[in-house]
Amino acid sequence: MNESIKKNLVTLAILQRTDAARDTLEKYLSGVEERIESLSRQMAAMDQQVTEGQLQLDGVKKQYRSDENEIRSIEAGVEKSDAKLGSVKTNKEYQSILKEIDDLKLKKGVIEDRMIEMLEQIEKVEKQVKVLKADRADLAREIEEQQNLIRKEAEERSRELASLSREREEIWAELEPKMQKIYGRAKQQGKGTAVAAVVDGVCQVCRMNIPPQAFIELLRLDSMSMCPNCQRIIYPKAVIEGA
Ligand SMILES: [Zn+2]
Repeated sequence: MNESIKKNLVTLAILQRTDAARDTLEKYLSGVEERIESLSRQMAAMDQQVTEGQLQLDGVKKQYRSDENEIRSIEAGVEKSDAKLGSVKTNKEYQSILKEIDDLKLKKGVIEDRMIEMLEQIEKVEKQVKVLKADRADLAREIEEQQNLIRKEAEERSRELASLSREREEIWAELEPKMQKIYGRAKQQGKGTAVAAVVDGVCQVCRMNIPPQAFIELLRLDSMSMCPNCQRIIYPKAVIEGA
């Protein structure tokens, strides 16, 4: 057994675990803004619903007020026509004014029917808007709470990452430049994972069996070994992680 190889493998295994933990944290942190924004989008969609409900309600109320004005103007017209009735000269004129009054009353009836329907609609939409506003308030509280939790957790993980990065620098400094180079190359080839533990002859990253002869050599710790399949630096887990 070459003690220096063993020492290097112990350091490389720790470096790998540290880098893997950093990767996980970085991945988590890179998704934080999107999670916060996605919640904000949910809130904006809810706001939009409330606004649309309120607009619908305002629209019906406006139409109702306009109908009220029209009713008043029709009533004034009827009154005016009624007054004219007293001073008409001919029967034809009298009939014509009666017809005018009938038409106005007919028109008033149509508008009044429409207004009754509108009152029902106003009541219905008012209820909907009230429910929407209550839902919106609940959602706003819930979203704010969730966003605060996400931010708080992100801060914690950022601190964790900073601390791991400092640890990594120390571990990195323990490695000879030659080993740093080997690690860097293996990391590139291994798609971000440079070092793999081997358990019962199986590479724990690519899950392939290490050929028996290579496994025996690996256990001797006489030289650095690479996984013949994934080309990562390999070490016997039981020997190195227990060291
Ligand atoms: Zn492998």
